Amino acid sequence: MKTTRFSRRRGLFYKIGLIVVIAIAALSLKLYVSGKADVSAHEVSPSTSPSISSSTNDQVNKETEQQKKPDFKPEGKVVYLTFDDGPTKYTSKFLDVLKQHGVKATFFMTGNNLSTVGYQPNVKRAIDEGHYVGAHSMTHNSKKLYNEGMFVPEMKETIQLIQSITGERPKLVRPPYGSAPGLKPQQVRDQLAQSGIKVWDWTIDSNDWNLRGKPDKIIETIKAQTKRDVEVVLMHEQPQTLQALPQIIEFYKKKGYKFAVYKESEHFSLNFQKDDRL
Ligand SMILES: [Zn+2]
Repeated sequence: MKTTRFSRRRGLFYKIGLIVVIAIAALSLKLYVSGKADVSAHEVSPSTSPSISSSTNDQVNKETEQQKKPDFKPEGKVVYLTFDDGPTKYTSKFLDVLKQHGVKATFFMTGNNLSTVGYQPNVKRAIDEGHYVGAHSMTHNSKKLYNEGMFVPEMKETIQLIQSITGERPKLVRPPYGSAPGLKPQQVRDQLAQSGIKVWDWTIDSNDWNLRGKPDKIIETIKAQTKRDVEVVLMHEQPQTLQALPQIIEFYKKKGYKFAVYKESEHFSLNFQKDDRL
């Protein structure tokens, strides 16, 4: 009897124990499942949010693309002949030689010379004959441009002047003495980028301004530096350059280069500051 009562009680304990164990198990399963649901909710949200953020990125990319077109890539061997510091009394002679050889070139002119009324018909002629006329500042004065913050205002004034003479409003400028070190301050380059002004330096410095009476030396200097598929040759409207020009053209023709003139729709970045916005 004692034994029976004991075993009954033991049986009861077992049942209660079993119920408790099941209850705990059920509760923890429920907790586990709801926890899992929470986790999966977290797992789901990151997988949806990237699609949201990637579409935001696309939008940002599109906006950036609108501001900056990808660089144009000239095909094959291409040379851009560029002439700075005009217009001068030699401009019409440069245009004659270029016409004779069927070559288009890119000019960078200064405001002071553009203001000389007698030179203005040749600026118009350059445009009419398919050349590009870009800006090269008003004063060409390094101190004013780079130390006194006049680079952007002077370029804008020069652009305006070119437009008033030719009807064309160029976006491309060449910094006097090159963009290095003058355009190192990012603030100036930010202003240029915001104004949509592009800046071209060069790949070949002919050193022609320094070679008065030595056209052969100019040709030599250019030949020695010609090694890339795309070359942009820095020259000036100087008599020794005019003398050398037919042979320079001949040299590039023999080397298999095509002559290109700068086009805003075919812009590629070429500045010593390596600022790809310019
Ligand atoms: Zn110059």
